Amino acid sequence: MIEFFASSLISIDIKSAIRILMWCNIVAALLVYCYILSNDFARETRITKYCFFSRILMGLGALLFLQRDVAPDLISVSLGNALFLLAFYFESLAMLTVAKANSRTNTRLALFTALLGIVVFNAVEFLYPQNPSLRVAVASICIFLTLLPPTVHMFMPPASIFRKSVGLFHVVYLCTLVPRVVLSLNMPTHLLQNNLVQSLNYLSLLIVTFFSLPAYLLLMKEDMDKMLVEMASADQLTGLLNRRGFFLSAEHIFRNHRHRRSHACVLFMDIDNFKKVNDAWGHAFGDEVLKIFARVTHSSLRTYDLRCRFGGEEFVVLLPRTRLADAEMIAQRIKDALSEIKFEEHPEYVLTASMGLYGGLPVADDTLDRFIEEADKAMYVAKQTGKNRIVAVTAEQRLAA
Ligand code: GH3
Ligand code: MG
Ligand code: MG
Repeated sequence: MIEFFASSLISIDIKSAIRILMWCNIVAALLVYCYILSNDFARETRITKYCFFSRILMGLGALLFLQRDVAPDLISVSLGNALFLLAFYFESLAMLTVAKANSRTNTRLALFTALLGIVVFNAVEFLYPQNPSLRVAVASICIFLTLLPPTVHMFMPPASIFRKSVGLFHVVYLCTLVPRVVLSLNMPTHLLQNNLVQSLNYLSLLIVTFFSLPAYLLLMKEDMDKMLVEMASADQLTGLLNRRGFFLSAEHIFRNHRHRRSHACVLFMDIDNFKKVNDAWGHAFGDEVLKIFARVTHSSLRTYDLRCRFGGEEFVVLLPRTRLADAEMIAQRIKDALSEIKFEEHPEYVLTASMGLYGGLPVADDTLDRFIEEADKAMYVAKQTGKNRIVAVTAEQRLAA
C-alpha cells in the first residue's frame, strides 16, 4: 500500500526525465545568457556566468545521454558524464558564491573533485566496460563529493532561512545519491532503470535544477538589497550612519527604553567655527577634519552607542542604557580626545566642539525627536556660553521647568 502510494508520487520514466532535464537546462541557459547580455550588472557578477555554464553543460550532457543507442559510448557515456560533472562544478561555484564561501581554496577543491571524478569515471569505464552498474555508482559518488562541500556552506552562519531552504533542496538530492550507489552495486542496470530510488534521484535533480537558478538570483537580490539599505543608511564621507540610517535603528531602541523605563541619553555635537576652517584652509581640509572628528568620537564611544552624522558639522549619538552622569563622562572623553589631535598641515588649528547632552528616564509621551531637540538646545547653550563646552540637561529638569 505504502509502496504503491510512493510509486504514484515518485515513479518517473527516466528517459523522459532526461529529456525534460535537457530542454529545461538549455532554455534556462539561453535565458541566463540573454539576461547577461541585457544587464550590465549581471555581466559583472560571476554567479550569472556560473549559472549559465552549469545549465548549458547539464543540458548538453543530457543531450548526449539520450544518444546512448545511436552514438558510441565514448560520446554518450564518457563525454556525457564529463559534461555533467563539469555542470556540477559550476553549480558548486554558484553555491559557494551565494554562501560567500568562494575562497580560492574552496573553488580549487571543487575543481579538483570534479576533474578527479571525470578521470576516475573514465578509468572505470575503460577498465570495466561490461559493468555499467559500477559506472552508475562511481558517477553518483563523484557528484556527491563535488556537491557536498558547497551544500554544507549553504548552512553556515550567517545563512538566512531562505538560503538554508535552498541548501535543503541539495541535501535531498545528495541523500538520494547514497541509496543509488548501494543499489547500483547490488542490482543489474536494467532493473535500476525503473527503480523508485532512481526515480527519486532524477526527480530531486529536476527540482534542484528547476529551482536553484531563480533561488540563486533571489539570494543575489537579497544581498544587493542589504547592500543598498546599508549604502542608503551610511554617510559617505565619514562612514557613520546618516540621519535616515540613524532613525531606522534609534527609534526602535528608544521605544524599547521608554517601554522598559530605562535611562537613555542623546549627545548633540557641533564643531566650533567650522566655517572658518573651510574659509581659511579649503573645503578639502574641512572634509578631512570631519573624517577625523568622526573617527575620534567613534573610538571614544561604546560599541552599542548609535552614532550618526546628523548633517554638515553636526553629530548625534544615542547612548542607550546610560545615566546622564555616565554620558557626561563619555562626552568629556570625546572632548579630551579632540584636544589631543594634531593637524600636520595646519598645526595652529585646534579642533573643538560644543556638546549638548539630554537624558533621563523617557516618559510615556517622550519621543526620540524630543530628546534630540533638547540635546540640540543644550548644545546651543554651550555655544552661547563660550563654545568647546559640555552642557547637560536631565529629563527631570525639563519636566520641572
Ligand atoms: P559655530 O561654532 O557657531 O557652530 O560656527 P560654525 O562655523 O561651525 O557653523 P556654521 O553653521 O556657520 O557653518 C557650518 C559650516 O559647515 C558651513 C558649511 O560650509 C560647512 N560644511 C557643511 N557640510 C560640510 C562638508 O561636508 N564638508 C565641508 N568641508 N564643510 C561642510
Ligand atoms: Mg552647525
Ligand atoms: Mg559649528
